Amino acid sequence: MAITIDGKATAHKLRAEINTEVQKLVSEGTRPGLAVVLVGDNPASRVYVHMKEKACCDVGIFSDEHKLPAETGEKELLSLIESLNHDTRIHGILVQLPLPKHINEARVLEAISPEKDVDGFHPYNVGRLVLGKPTFQPCTPYGIMVLLKEYGIDLTGKEVVVVGRSNIVGKPVAFMCLQQHATVTICHTRTVDLPDKIARADVLIAAIGRPEAIPGAWIKKGAVVIDVGVNRIAEKKLVGDVEFEAAAERASYITPVPGGVGPMTITMLLQNTLLSAKISHAAKQNSQEEPS
Ligand code: NAP
Repeated sequence: MAITIDGKATAHKLRAEINTEVQKLVSEGTRPGLAVVLVGDNPASRVYVHMKEKACCDVGIFSDEHKLPAETGEKELLSLIESLNHDTRIHGILVQLPLPKHINEARVLEAISPEKDVDGFHPYNVGRLVLGKPTFQPCTPYGIMVLLKEYGIDLTGKEVVVVGRSNIVGKPVAFMCLQQHATVTICHTRTVDLPDKIARADVLIAAIGRPEAIPGAWIKKGAVVIDVGVNRIAEKKLVGDVEFEAAAERASYITPVPGGVGPMTITMLLQNTLLSAKISHAAKQNSQEEPS
């Protein structure tokens, strides 16, 4: 029976550490600040934004909320981002996706200063991630890597199979595993013989968005299973992309849904905001020390 990877406990521990570091930075004159921009009234987005605001508040990060009506124009949104780019109280800018159809998402994400791109979605930061350079790592893949490290799972030489090739999960997590010396296969809807690919995985990362699409019987004995999927199948019932019970019989480690990858995502957003504030604080200190 697999060991359950407890994302909730790991997130809780990390948030306590972030809180300590935030208090230290505040005592030195800088309070980390995160601007969260929500356009429209998508109920799921509203819940996520509320969770992010609460998480900021809990660790002492200044949360600057901008809730704009659905009919907000792209120009108006871009001008808000421009002002946040120059606001010295703000170290991270997050635009909640999806945006209403009349707004060009790529243009908006590219307008965020790469120095405040705590979601890690700006092409500049994506490029740095691919090159293996320090950058803001996208929060969900970052959380996965932290969980693997926390449970002592070394990827060197391992066969990692990622199912899903989205820009926010599948692609970045694949590059992050490559950086950790894994041999990586990325699968998607056009992949031929998916069970055969999954059977090879020492580490399976499922980011599909289809309830229990991967049967437990496909999992190699002793594999590590990271289930990113969050699928609502009844009013109060969430399941992942992997058939949990059957997979847990074969795996060595497995993330549950909920309580696995999910709690890590917002935690890594806080971590990235703290990192950005630390960089800005150090730059401020350096400029004050320079002779005029
Ligand atoms: P997405 O943009 O919809 O991408 C899904 C990917 O899965 C696509 O690449 C798609 O392939 C592939 N796919 C779909 N059905 C498949 C199948 N039957 N076989 C093989 N590949 C298949 O989704 P996402 O944004 O990456 O999110 C994936 C899941 O993770 C969702 O359940 C989402 O809610 C969850 N999620 C959770 C968190 C968290 O914090 N826990 C964060 C982000 C996402 P094609 O490219 O060929 O279409």
